[in-house]
Amino acid sequence: MAAQTIEGKAISAAVREEVRLEAQELSSAGVVPGLATVLVGDDPASSTYVRSKQRACEKAGIYSRDIRLEETTGEAELLATVENLNADPSIDGILVQLPLPAHINSRRIIEAIDPEKDVDGFHPVNLGKLLAGEDAFYPCTPYGITVLLERSGVEVEGTHVVIVGRSNIVGKPLAALLMQKRSGANATVTVCHSRTADLATHTRRADILIVAAGRRAFVTGDMVGEGAVVIDVGINRVDDPQAKRGYRLVGDVDYEGAAERASLITPVPGGVGPMTIAMLLKNTNRAARKRANG
Ligand code: NAD
Repeated sequence: MAAQTIEGKAISAAVREEVRLEAQELSSAGVVPGLATVLVGDDPASSTYVRSKQRACEKAGIYSRDIRLEETTGEAELLATVENLNADPSIDGILVQLPLPAHINSRRIIEAIDPEKDVDGFHPVNLGKLLAGEDAFYPCTPYGITVLLERSGVEVEGTHVVIVGRSNIVGKPLAALLMQKRSGANATVTVCHSRTADLATHTRRADILIVAAGRRAFVTGDMVGEGAVVIDVGINRVDDPQAKRGYRLVGDVDYEGAAERASLITPVPGGVGPMTIAMLLKNTNRAARKRANG
């Protein structure tokens, strides 16, 4: 079987267009959605992510504030910045770019964000509500994966989803979302991790295989069941002197091998990646709508 590609770029563009129209509607009703990004230090990858989030806001008609702080910024100063944003009525969403420098306790910063403005969905209140099947901001990457599946026409209900990776930002919230009745997903979910015995036995049984292991081309074709849907969350840089930036991006799945057995597969880049920012914008609009509704 030669797999069809899931077009993350096109699906993300469609979501962003919906977000733009919604932001327009909110703005004409007097509520301009607003997102603040906070970057501490000048890590090049983090700066690139923040820049793309700012640019995406601009295109979507969402007001954005770009807060840059020195690498040496103390925890108290960062907490004060977050508190100011919590109190600022023109800001609906707050995103503190991770990772933070080692001298700052990230958990303490995330917990300081008002859960109603936590558009990244990492606050324990939102994670707890997600697990309990209540209304919450969903973390953007897992949320984006559910939208990718839905808009690619994949029927998730009743299927066996196998997730490789149990991180707090991808694997765990994704498992909660996909097993849920509230989200309409209703899948049976298996979560595999670094201590899982005989990983391939699990991955081969998946109707939908989602890989977020942070290891380049780690899932090979023989680990994929015939006709499975494969979602590759991985983003790994590989040096490539021929490439414009001196590197190229590859996923956690060996694309060629997996595509021979899968029915549908996401490419890297252009699969899950573009969905993450689209969902961040969608969450920001959602927070703004709550403000509009009082
Ligand atoms: P992480 O390093 O926090 O977690 C990796 C997980 O993989 C761990 O839970 C670990 O148990 C599991 N794992 C590692 N080795 C394994 C093995 N041999 N067998 C089974 N499981 C194993 O990673 P993360 O933050 O969840 O990110 C995963 C990947 O997704 C990375 O490549 C990251 O760059 C990418 N990512 C992409 C997006 C996006 O927007 N597309 C967002 C977040 C993360």
